Order: sequence, then structure tokens, then C-alpha cells
Amino acid sequence: MIDHSMQQLSGNLFIISAPSGAGKSTLIQALLKRYSDMRLSVSHTTRAPRAGEQDGVHYHFTTIPDFQQRIANGEFLESAEVFGNYYGTSTQAIRELLSQGIDVFLDIDWQGAQQIRAKVAGTIGIFILPPSLDALQQRLTHRATDSAEVIAKRMAQAQSEMSHAFEYDYLIINDQLEQAYNELERIVLAQRNRFSSQAHRQQALLEQLLAKAAK
Ligand code: 5GP
Repeated sequence: MIDHSMQQLSGNLFIISAPSGAGKSTLIQALLKRYSDMRLSVSHTTRAPRAGEQDGVHYHFTTIPDFQQRIANGEFLESAEVFGNYYGTSTQAIRELLSQGIDVFLDIDWQGAQQIRAKVAGTIGIFILPPSLDALQQRLTHRATDSAEVIAKRMAQAQSEMSHAFEYDYLIINDQLEQAYNELERIVLAQRNRFSSQAHRQQALLEQLLAKAAK
């Protein structure tokens, strides 16, 4: 059953997926820096924090038993195992933001995107691809010390994620960062101007204008 209640909230729900190395985080961060009424959803994860990552900011870091309890409580809009760790999106946190008129971005993988698409009406899916396999390989080769095996594994994971690109509404090729950013911004801003979105944001104005027109 598709849930239409989230669509009735004022904010838009964007799902952004990409293979690692496509520049997804950089693009999302650039957008969030510019617009104060857009937020990235903070997922729960069982993976260990990386250097510089803060609990509650980058992720809500948690244990496997706690994660399983949250699944049992029905707290997650979606959850998935990605690269051996569990990740999930809190339904309540998303609802709260959307109801305040904030546009929410979910940086999640294709499995989570499929679950949300099947459940929630009106989401907007955006997939980001690298310009070529060579460029991707370069971006996935972080250090000269990376073994051929490690790089091959990252490439295989990236290709598996990319095989789901066709399931999304929009596709951005991140060759030149500035152009990719402009494309992302255009998609997001156009979505905000859809009547269904404006009807919530501009409710007071619409009522005022239509009331005058009726006299
Ligand atoms: P990382 O551990 O490198 O931050 O993220 C690994 C992958 O997990 C990325 O592709 C990211 O999009 C995905 N991911 C992060 N949070 C979630 C989530 O809440 N749900 C799902 N399904 N995937 C997530």
C-alpha cells in the first residue's frame, strides 16, 4: 500500500543514490550550504564511525541489537544491509522535517530507494553517475597503496549500485562538478515549484488571492 500522507506535508522528499566515487556527498553538501530549508536525513547505522564523523551529525551510530529493536518497533521507513553494515532511515525524523516545510534528502542505496518508492507517494529519485569507468576507477583509487584486489572490489560494488540507475526519476552525470551541481539545483528547484508543493508553501497567499478574485 502506498502511503500518501507524507505527500500531504509541505516539504519534498528527495532520494539520492550513486556509486561511491560519483561525488554524491559533495553535490548534496553544496546544495545544503546554499539553502537553509533543505536537510540531509541522518541515518542510523551499525558501522563504526570514521575519523571526523560525529554521532548525531553524520549518522546515529548504534549497535546491531539496538538496530534490530528499532526494526521490530517499526521505526524505519527503510533499512538495508550495505557492505556488511546495517543502515536505516527514521520515519519520525523525516516526517517532522517535511511537516516544517523542509525539503529532505536521503543519501541511501538502491535497496532503501526501492523500499521507499513502494511505500511513499511523491518522492523524487535522483541518480548520480560518473562520466566513465576510467574516471570512476581513478576516483576509487584513494591511495597508491590500494591493492588491485581492493580496487576491483570497489569497482564491482559501484557497478552493482549503477545497475539500478534506471529506477530513478532523474539522472545526473558528474563530469564537471559545477555543471552537475547546476543540474541538481535545477531539478530540486523545479520540484519546489510544482503546484502540489506550492499549494502547501503558498497556502496563505493562494487563499488571499483567490478570495479577492471571488468578490
Ligand atoms: P557510508 O558507510 O560510506 O557512509 O555509506 C555506504 C552506503 O550506504 C552509501 O551508498 C549510502 O548511500 C548508503 N546509506 C547510508 N545511509 C543509508 C540508509 O539509511 N539506508 C540505506 N538503504 N542506505 C544508506
